[in-house]
Amino acid sequence: MSDIKTLSRGPVPKPWIEQIHAYVPGKSTGADGRPLIKLSANENPLGSSQAALAARSSAAAASLYPDPDSTSLRAAIGARHGIDPARVVMGTGSDELLNLAAQGYAGHGDDVLYVRYGFSVYDIAARRCGANPVVAPDRDFGTDVDALLACVSERTRVVFLANPNNPTGCFLPRAELERLHAALSRDVLLVVDQAYGEYLGEADDDGALALAEAHDNVLVTRTFSKIYGLAGERIGWGTGAPAIVATLNRIRGPFNVTATGQAMALAALDDQDFVTRSRDHNTAERARFVAAIEALGNRGLRAVPSEANFVLVLFEGALTAESAYQGLAERGYIVRWLPGQGLPQALRITIGKTADMDAIAAALADMAQQAS
Ligand SMILES: *Cc1c(COP(=O)(O)O)cnc(C)c1O
Repeated sequence: MSDIKTLSRGPVPKPWIEQIHAYVPGKSTGADGRPLIKLSANENPLGSSQAALAARSSAAAASLYPDPDSTSLRAAIGARHGIDPARVVMGTGSDELLNLAAQGYAGHGDDVLYVRYGFSVYDIAARRCGANPVVAPDRDFGTDVDALLACVSERTRVVFLANPNNPTGCFLPRAELERLHAALSRDVLLVVDQAYGEYLGEADDDGALALAEAHDNVLVTRTFSKIYGLAGERIGWGTGAPAIVATLNRIRGPFNVTATGQAMALAALDDQDFVTRSRDHNTAERARFVAAIEALGNRGLRAVPSEANFVLVLFEGALTAESAYQGLAERGYIVRWLPGQGLPQALRITIGKTADMDAIAAALADMAQQAS
């Protein structure tokens, strides 16, 4: 007995869990602890809908468990998107649903596939359930359907695709998404992560919701964290065939969306004015910011085309991404430098308020000129 005690070094985590690099969240302070304007986490610069904030104070008592099925919220999501609420599953953010999709359909010996520069949660979701993460090559930072398909094998169980993608902002058009789906075997789950879906114009529908309605192997995830401005409340949803929804419901946390979260999301859905204002602000400011970066093309700066609420800026001249990152921090702005995701030459910059985007563009121009 005592022998066993001396030999034991404590509980041993599973090897596939030990291989996970914990998610790196966007920072909000500089190296010296100074609070900075945070353009590192793709949060809504307009804040939250006033209606949602009002709903926060009238939500049910904190002493009571929330509705475990988020019944009213799922009904409202169904009505808004023309989906049967029975085909909607709620998550503690869409992060929970992405993890549950991997856990529900993949395990040891299985592959979970996504494209290089895909959302960093996919790697964690794959490893968490013991599956092998498989990374397909990108094309110009975007999704290459043929490269993805070339990585599909009989071991592939789940394919993750963020559309638009984070951190690149790239968008895969409908015809390409349909081509990807059509080439996948019916027993492979295609997860289309539409965290930034509401930022697209109507004409840019990628058709994923229609695929999820018509086929048994598609899950679409959405979130209240981005355009709805409720990242702090952790509310996401997904839709797919009843069997997929039932699988995720079996393994989700039983009370996974708080009472406050349900009330705020319900009010936020009803305030589409706020959504429209947020989208319009983003579209206009993103175009202005991209033009400012393009004007610095002779200094080696380049913007990857984005359909999301951020822009991936590449630094291929004298000014490096790392020094631009530090220079922006000195000027009061925190953005996202991504060496851990294989992008040491890039900064992901969330589209913020107008004055902040002007200040960042001016600072980059200034730094690029001084570097060369
Ligand atoms: C922000 C983001 C999410 C949303 O995560 P939540 O858990 O809903 O806050 C999901 N997917 C991508 C690609 C994202 O960028």
